[in-house]
Amino acid sequence: MNPQVASEDNPYQAMQARLDLASERLGLEPNLISILRTCEREITISMPVVMDDGSVEVFEGFRVQHSTSRGPAKGGIRYALNVNRDEVRALAAWMTWKCAVVNVPFGGGKGGVVCDPFKMSKSELERVTRRYVTGIMDFIGPDRDVPAPDMGTDGQIMAWFMDTYSMHKHAYLPASVTGKPISLGGSLGRIEATGRGVMLCAREALKHLGMNPKECTTAIQGSGNVGMISALQLASTGIKVVAISDVHGGLYNEKGIDLAGLRKHMKVQRKLDGFDGGDRISNNELLELEVDILVPAATENVITSKNAAKLHARIIVEGANGPVTANADKILDDKGVFVVPDILANAGGVTVSYFEWVQDRMSFFWTQREVEERMERIMVDSFAATVDMAQRFGESNRIAAYMLGVDRVADTTRMRGIYA
Ligand code: NAD
Repeated sequence: MNPQVASEDNPYQAMQARLDLASERLGLEPNLISILRTCEREITISMPVVMDDGSVEVFEGFRVQHSTSRGPAKGGIRYALNVNRDEVRALAAWMTWKCAVVNVPFGGGKGGVVCDPFKMSKSELERVTRRYVTGIMDFIGPDRDVPAPDMGTDGQIMAWFMDTYSMHKHAYLPASVTGKPISLGGSLGRIEATGRGVMLCAREALKHLGMNPKECTTAIQGSGNVGMISALQLASTGIKVVAISDVHGGLYNEKGIDLAGLRKHMKVQRKLDGFDGGDRISNNELLELEVDILVPAATENVITSKNAAKLHARIIVEGANGPVTANADKILDDKGVFVVPDILANAGGVTVSYFEWVQDRMSFFWTQREVEERMERIMVDSFAATVDMAQRFGESNRIAAYMLGVDRVADTTRMRGIYA
């Protein structure tokens, strides 16, 4: 079975359509489905911020908590110009299902600020961040809602976040946010976690399909935290990375991209442009390359009903959240593409965020090896559980992952009952 939605580019509708299918296959009660289809709490704030030139700009910020049935809400904060409420709602719900798929004791939340972080100075970013934290302060905290980085945000922003929250609460509260620098209670292995999880899923998919990594190629859309680390991790298993991109376009080299050189270039330039280790291609051309593994690791809705039929990859590992629209699911299924869905493929990040939260609460820190081994076990088991569910129910990996996650959330929601 595959979903179809009216507005293909609305990720919240896409989430609900897939949830409906998974719920139907699980035989969930209609009351429960209507609870799971909606978000528990949605906060919208207007934030006047003094810019460096003395002018005042009013920024719009969101924090959405989709579910706290299994634990505190958990999910990143996105700084981008196209952030909007339905996107944040979808991202929050995906966090709920993702945390349940890997069975970490969190619900789902997400936040966003409508801004262009690349055009703002460091001090402007700091003022926006501190104002945002103050605006949502009453609804977050280590036991309520624990944010993390996402597109356009990083460890420095998480450090300001933790500092603002701690200052207002007159306490040292590192467990209020994850993805922090190590010196502030961050976890070893967190920066690499999402990309490493992508690599583990790709490795398991290849094993499942009987393919040899050393004979495989991959194209990666995006070269931020998830894209670049995925590229390095996949390359470390012998897979040849032939293409990578950023928002302005991609780079293709059939002999393999010089990732170390590219990384050095991007540290200085902050963009792919100007690196001359291959031919320039567009982001659309990158998606349609003849590669074994495609890793969309940038943003939503890049594989749609319009281009899905033109893809050549045998495997898609969704580093990004929501890169495939609901209407493209059937086309990929019919083509026999093995899709590792976002709520499994990029769950390495939240898994190590969970470890960070645990370490902060204990004030007892683990070695990188401990983090990596625990994370690998969770990712490998979750991959196996998803594929098993898909085979037992004759469903796609995506609907199987939803079934796995939704069933766990439905269980706690049912057991807790409806408080009235
Ligand atoms: P990032 O800001 O570090 O990098 C984003 C990358 O995507 C950049 O290379 C940027 O140039 C590119 N990009 C942005 N818009 C694009 C567009 N329209 N077309 C093509 N490329 C575009 O962000 P990130 O943390 O790497 O996150 C990427 C994706 O992974 C997002 O969907 C995010 O929600 C998801 N994700 C991130 C994490 C994490 O730990 N950072 C965890 C799970 C999921």
